[in-house]
Amino acid sequence: MAMTVRPVSRPRRGLLEQSYLWEVARGLGVTFRHFFINLARHCLRLAGLRAEPGAVTIQYPDEPAVLGRRARTRHRLLRRPDGSPRCTACLLCETICPARCIRITAEESPDPAVEKRAKTFDIDLGMCVFCGHCVEACPVDAIHMDADQVELAAYSRGDMIWDMPALMRDTK
Ligand code: SF4
Ligand code: SF4
Repeated sequence: MAMTVRPVSRPRRGLLEQSYLWEVARGLGVTFRHFFINLARHCLRLAGLRAEPGAVTIQYPDEPAVLGRRARTRHRLLRRPDGSPRCTACLLCETICPARCIRITAEESPDPAVEKRAKTFDIDLGMCVFCGHCVEACPVDAIHMDADQVELAAYSRGDMIWDMPALMRDTK
């Protein structure tokens, strides 16, 4: 079936909006609102009237970034008790990945209770959008995004591709 194109009308903009002055003023209004609210919070804390401090700018990278408890950071692959990868090479994560940055090859598992295992497992972290779909899709809880590593710079695109030994290195 041919795709139909839905026309979208352009919003009409008045003289005030076309001059951008109103939008600049609105933006400054938001900035100053946050500034004064935060200033008040710091003053109330200094006066002993408030327990929670106001927001503080973190001097990253001189100070380490404070990650949220549920932050999605660099991936790691989990192991079985015998040290082998828990991944059964079902390819669900590779299939669901919106960035197409997971590449897995499978091989037969020596364990008769497990049909397959991953022979190679590469993630191109230069393409990953850290959506977490791979973690959600995994039926055996073999991949996590909790390595607490967010600095992932490299000198080449190739160095951004993490293979299985690298993804398992900090997994006991
Ligand atoms: S976090 Fe998202 S983009 Fe990154 S490898 Fe997993 S599914 Fe792909
Ligand atoms: S979804 Fe889990 S078990 Fe399946 S290939 Fe990915 S990491 Fe391995």
